[in-house]
Amino acid sequence: MKFFSSIFLLLITTFFAWAEDLSLAKDGKTDYVIVTGKDNGAIQKLAVQELKSHLEAMTGAVFHVSETGAGKKHRIYLGLSEEARNVLGKENLAASLREQENVIQVKGKDLFLYGKGKHGTIFAVYELLENKFGCRWLSVFEEPYIPSKKELVLKDGTTRTAYAFPLRSLMNYFYKDRYQAAVYNYRNRQNLLLGLDYLDKGIVPELEIYGPACHTLSVIIPGFTLRGANRPAEWHKIKDYFAIHPEWFSMDEKGKRISNRQLCFSNKEMRKEYIKNALEMHRRLEQKHGKAYLTLDLNDIAYRICCCPDCMKMEQKYQSRGGAFFDMLIEFCRKYPKIEFATLAYQRGLTQTPPVVKDFPQNLTIIFCPINGLYSGTMDKENKNDMNDMLGWLKLTPKVWVWYYPNTYGYGTLAIQMPMGNFERIAQDIRLMHKAGIQGTYFEHDSGGIALSGNLSEMQSWVMYKLFQNPDLDVKMLMKDFAEHYYGKAAPAILKYAEEMEQERKNFVAKGGKWQYNTQNYHYLTAKYLLRWNKMFDDAAKMVSGKEAARLNMARMGLDCAIIDKLSSEPDYKDLVKICRDRLTKTYQYVTTNRRTTTSFSRLTKWLAEIDARGKKKPLPEMFRKIPQSDLLEIAPLAKAKTAVKDPDAHMGVAQAVEWDGKKFNIGTYDYTSKSYGPGRAIYASQVKMGEYSIYKIQKPFIISPDLIMWGGNWGMSLPLRALFKSDNPEFLKQKWTLYVSLKFTKDKVYLDRGILVKAK
Ligand SMILES: [Zn+2]
Repeated sequence: MKFFSSIFLLLITTFFAWAEDLSLAKDGKTDYVIVTGKDNGAIQKLAVQELKSHLEAMTGAVFHVSETGAGKKHRIYLGLSEEARNVLGKENLAASLREQENVIQVKGKDLFLYGKGKHGTIFAVYELLENKFGCRWLSVFEEPYIPSKKELVLKDGTTRTAYAFPLRSLMNYFYKDRYQAAVYNYRNRQNLLLGLDYLDKGIVPELEIYGPACHTLSVIIPGFTLRGANRPAEWHKIKDYFAIHPEWFSMDEKGKRISNRQLCFSNKEMRKEYIKNALEMHRRLEQKHGKAYLTLDLNDIAYRICCCPDCMKMEQKYQSRGGAFFDMLIEFCRKYPKIEFATLAYQRGLTQTPPVVKDFPQNLTIIFCPINGLYSGTMDKENKNDMNDMLGWLKLTPKVWVWYYPNTYGYGTLAIQMPMGNFERIAQDIRLMHKAGIQGTYFEHDSGGIALSGNLSEMQSWVMYKLFQNPDLDVKMLMKDFAEHYYGKAAPAILKYAEEMEQERKNFVAKGGKWQYNTQNYHYLTAKYLLRWNKMFDDAAKMVSGKEAARLNMARMGLDCAIIDKLSSEPDYKDLVKICRDRLTKTYQYVTTNRRTTTSFSRLTKWLAEIDARGKKKPLPEMFRKIPQSDLLEIAPLAKAKTAVKDPDAHMGVAQAVEWDGKKFNIGTYDYTSKSYGPGRAIYASQVKMGEYSIYKIQKPFIISPDLIMWGGNWGMSLPLRALFKSDNPEFLKQKWTLYVSLKFTKDKVYLDRGILVKAK
């Protein structure tokens, strides 16, 4: 696929403005016929079907389809068939079109829709329907918005449209009806991440290459023990390379080879095996899907790749933490110039920073993923290091896509993400990407409530699609356009809600505030704002009914969730919290019944149970109460452990109990991957307060690693500290914590009911 070297110039022009207005239908009748030519391909068929069905729904007229249009008075030519070319003659614009550019052209009483590239004609159809006639595709789950027209008139003569980014996509894996999702994506001019399986239905991705996967390291070399890593491919003969070649795996800071990070890419023997296996994976992908990218990247864990001297030297050589990996990848790409490679530039501590290298391979696509940035800021201000890295990649190759994260992620147990005000932030970053010459948008729009159609996430999707087409569009006008079509009379309230949240974000940033990737506890989620916005939604709800009312309820899910989360413990708001719980439950039922996604109703019930359990929670011991929430972690022992017992004195009523000799009890930490002991202590009878839960401190702070536990006694007692591990948060990987354990001693038993970790300064 060839694209214009870097920046796709945006071109939306209107000329031949003297062309007559065309009346395509009036009073339910039309003189027009759709002329298809001999093209019988799947995309053409879909283009015909889309044009015909929308025109008919708009006008009530029947638009017949004809191969040649012979004998018909007025014609809509779809594509540049022989007939279309004959009629257009010298006015045929095909030779002057850029890749993907499409045209709506009028000559005499005839209308021509065509364009360059495989999507030229169908995108001209969508341009006509959306931008000339006012149709909108606003939600995956709803019928298109199609205005009724007594008379359908096309003004403005000829319009040429090209899109700012050659490749455009929002992720869509969470929609269960894959075809339904693809239709919506496609109508909004998405041309990537569509899936080759829709080919016969006319939905075709721009690139004829099977798309990139990610985190393939563990697929290619089996033997990793990292939890959450992708499984090895099934065809491997060797099932555990770590067992036979531990020297092929990452060396940790202490010089130990470990199986839960990455590989030692400076090891030549390992490279040979890796390349052999990667080629086999690629061969099988192509056998199944046709031409495929070979995506090579790392496991999703942000520790330094490998601390061995040779790998460290490569960090120096390439002036990037990814040095050792890039050295192998670049060699691989050069050796196989016919294969199209892709890799993630992911994590500042791994591969985000481009290497210093000459003759960068032309067959390597970079997917730039700025996950460590501030989610409250933009790339030209708060996230300048991301901007510099992105520009650095673009100096090496034009083939750069951005895997952007519009919304923060959160603690997974929330019923839905808290509401965010970030439209202007997203718009600014899209503008910066376009200006820099980014070829593809590869946006991970899976947070923020989209899998529930909740909050303003559907509006976000639509606004992002419009900005992918033209980043110079006014984001506020786009929001207004969406809101008026989707929420009817409730639109002003929705827009005010979005604007006030966004203003709060801006005020916060101006004072130096920061949102990280996992921030959910936005500063504006206070009673003052929650009550104000709740009232705004109450007032707006009185103005709408039916579908618009349902959409309004979905838009307020995050607000309902915030009210329940923040105000449940306050008696003054008991009635309000009940109303919010009932409404959120009903909305959740509505969504999970009518809109098929990966989210299920049980997520809500689990979360509400957690809210209820808070009431039963014993308060933190006095000594922790002044420590900010963000500096504390709490962890309970596994309630399903063999040693678990019910104990009314215990925090949440459950503890683990083991025996002791009444003299000395040992507790400590242990990492299963490096097989090493960390800090611990002995507790002597003289230090024990008998018969009640008291806090015992392990003096020496430690880092939480992915396989860490705290053990007690003869190991019958254990706290799964590894459950607190955050693989993709570089700050977390460096952070030391001090562990306090809550234990109750009796004559012959020791009970454990919780651990509390405090950030060590
Ligand atoms: Zn190494």
